[in-house]
Amino acid sequence: MAKLTKTQQKKFRPVLLEILRQLDVKLGRLEEAVLLADVEKSGDDGEDAGGEGYSRDFQLGLLENEGEILKSTRLALERIDKGTYGTCLACKELIPERRLEVVPYAEYCVACQELAEKGDLEFD
Ligand SMILES: [Zn+2]
Repeated sequence: MAKLTKTQQKKFRPVLLEILRQLDVKLGRLEEAVLLADVEKSGDDGEDAGGEGYSRDFQLGLLENEGEILKSTRLALERIDKGTYGTCLACKELIPERRLEVVPYAEYCVACQELAEKGDLEFD
């Protein structure tokens, strides 16, 4: 299994922690917005009901996406602790560092990511 050096892996820890921090803030705001939308919807006059429904779904979708990134980021930090960060979970090859710089929580190399998105990824 190809691995990044400890030093290379540790370089990404502060990057991942910063993503976690920003996501926590963002998710907090989104959750608040969804809760507020609920309160407003239960109000009396019922105007703009359609519009609010759309924006609530939209916000819930965002919450889901951000939740996924949050999960991936936490897993990436665990992989730094285990010393396996930067290795593709599927083919065990190195994820190129320039990919990690763009997507620090990446779990797969580009080729395996494409397979995963098509649902074609097979684990041994
Ligand atoms: Zn791969």
